[in-house]
Amino acid sequence: MSPHADAGRRTRVLVVEDEESFVDALTIGLQREGFDVTAARDGVEALSAFRPGDCDVVLLDLMLPRLSGLDVLRSLREVSDVPIIIVSAKGEEVDMVLLLEIGADDYVTKPYRLRELVARIRAVLRRREAHDDSGDEASLIERGPIRLDIDARRCFVAGDEVKLRKKEFALLHLLLENPGRVLTREVLIDRVWGSDYVGDTKTLDVHIKRLRALIERNPKSPEFITTVRGVGYRFEATKPVG
Ligand code: CA
Repeated sequence: MSPHADAGRRTRVLVVEDEESFVDALTIGLQREGFDVTAARDGVEALSAFRPGDCDVVLLDLMLPRLSGLDVLRSLREVSDVPIIIVSAKGEEVDMVLLLEIGADDYVTKPYRLRELVARIRAVLRRREAHDDSGDEASLIERGPIRLDIDARRCFVAGDEVKLRKKEFALLHLLLENPGRVLTREVLIDRVWGSDYVGDTKTLDVHIKRLRALIERNPKSPEFITTVRGVGYRFEATKPVG
């Protein structure tokens, strides 16, 4: 049974962070937002504090004493598919592609606003719930003003139909299925094109550009399909829509 089936209980967050002032502020902030917070001050403590099924989301700092965030991520993924949001410091060199391959769900860079963090937490939880609920693939996906009818292969933006080519549709479908999640270029290319991918590495970007032209209010400043520099793209589930 999914932990979310236990309706009414507060969402439990494991905060793995060694900077004391940061832990306190975060704990208070998240509690105010209605979360139950457990804090672990280093990687070893994180692994002993983690109980599968008893934790809904992990905020994992990368630079930790005793055991690195990367090692914690690897160990957690051996026992659990709990959503994990990586936290890194500004300027820290981070191999996001590797982290996503190991199974991180999203990441934020310090310093971040609590609001942004909470939005990211809610996005990974929503995705997980949608995933748990849908035995089969959904035939209709709606995110903000965008609606995809999978069976009919039609796309609507704010009620108006936009015509998508086959690969554009597949690409948007994949992004919408993973709101708030960074999808690497490799994953997007592999899932949408597979061995059909014969173009140069710009083919993906050309498709993204065309999708933005069709679905974004301002394609030059995209609010739905955002670029994660050097890594890939993300469909923003957290932006207000209206
Ligand atoms: Ca740290």
